[in-house]
Amino acid sequence: MTPSTERRPPESAPPVKRQAPAKRLPAYYAVAGIRLDQELERMRGLPVFAGGPLTKKRPELKVRRASTRPNRVGFAVPAEHRLQVTAYPGIRPGDVLETLLHELVHLHVGRAREAHAWHGRTFKATLARAMHEAYGVRGVGARSTLHGAYAEAIERLRAKPQLEMDLA
Ligand SMILES: [Zn+2]
Repeated sequence: MTPSTERRPPESAPPVKRQAPAKRLPAYYAVAGIRLDQELERMRGLPVFAGGPLTKKRPELKVRRASTRPNRVGFAVPAEHRLQVTAYPGIRPGDVLETLLHELVHLHVGRAREAHAWHGRTFKATLARAMHEAYGVRGVGARSTLHGAYAEAIERLRAKPQLEMDLA
């Protein structure tokens, strides 16, 4: 929640050599027990993204593996319809799911014509709706473009059914 954990805007993404998308093994997309390729496919079908670029075409997803938690845990390049998330030691499902959906919302919203074009009102509202549709998360609040707030909420909600099953 410190400013250093805030993602930089997508336009500052580093250039990437363009090449034909490689055939990835399932393990490439597995982070914290989550298959990100499958999750991305599910996210693309959310009502919040209806009619947008995500429903038309699957974006290119890259997974970077870092040895320590980076300041920047993901980025999206709407103009190139691609996104990257970074895995690091100790990453939880909530962390990576938050990052994946955050970057997908960037691909959907793009650069809004308003103040704080990348993380402005439109982005925040779209992210809030997407989090609700995807994970049932509500009411996380205004600082939700920082990494962590939704991650905690997702972690709490994911823990619930398992706890109930254990008690049953
Ligand atoms: Zn962002």
